[in-house]
Amino acid sequence: MSCRSCGLWEHATQTVFGEGNADIEVILVGEQPGDKEDLAGHPFVGPAGKVLDRALLSAGINREKVYVTNLVKHFKSVQRGKWRIHKKPNAEEIAACRPWLDAEISLIQPRVVVCLGASAAKVLIGRDYRVTQQRGEMLRSEVAEFITATVHPSSILRAPDGDSRRLAMQEFIEDLKSIARHLPASALIAKSPDRVSE
Ligand code: SF4
Repeated sequence: MSCRSCGLWEHATQTVFGEGNADIEVILVGEQPGDKEDLAGHPFVGPAGKVLDRALLSAGINREKVYVTNLVKHFKSVQRGKWRIHKKPNAEEIAACRPWLDAEISLIQPRVVVCLGASAAKVLIGRDYRVTQQRGEMLRSEVAEFITATVHPSSILRAPDGDSRRLAMQEFIEDLKSIARHLPASALIAKSPDRVSE
């Protein structure tokens, strides 16, 4: 909580740690806490987190058996009027925060690491990785037994209209379903609803 290894702490409300139980098989890694997460002090509790919750449920993955975290633990933003707008952390900030992510992964030792979005994929899989072309591919990795990537749930919220939002959600769920096939039964829910509401 007192980390000052980069400048992001200065304008953030608080540190937003990863969350989940220790006996977890899968870690989802996003980019950074958003506005709501910064205020609440918990990861993935804002609109993107709600999308993630619904997609996990539809894919049959037990949300209680998922650890969620981010590349950096402080919110980076620019002020536009009364709004704080998300700003991408730079390479130095991500590198400064990497020891915290490494510590989370090494403590939990998950079977699968899932990168949510290009930022996490480029850091944890490789700079040449393209989420748009390679999403859902399960790769062997030094980070965990398996590593893969899909889109960040916030990208679904940015879809221009209802139809594209529904399609993006369905594709996200399909990625999570293929991830679920690499998880033990203890990480899954017995039955998942087929219908996904926007
Ligand atoms: S973003 Fe990470 S490295 Fe930077 S101050 Fe926060 S916890 Fe420390």
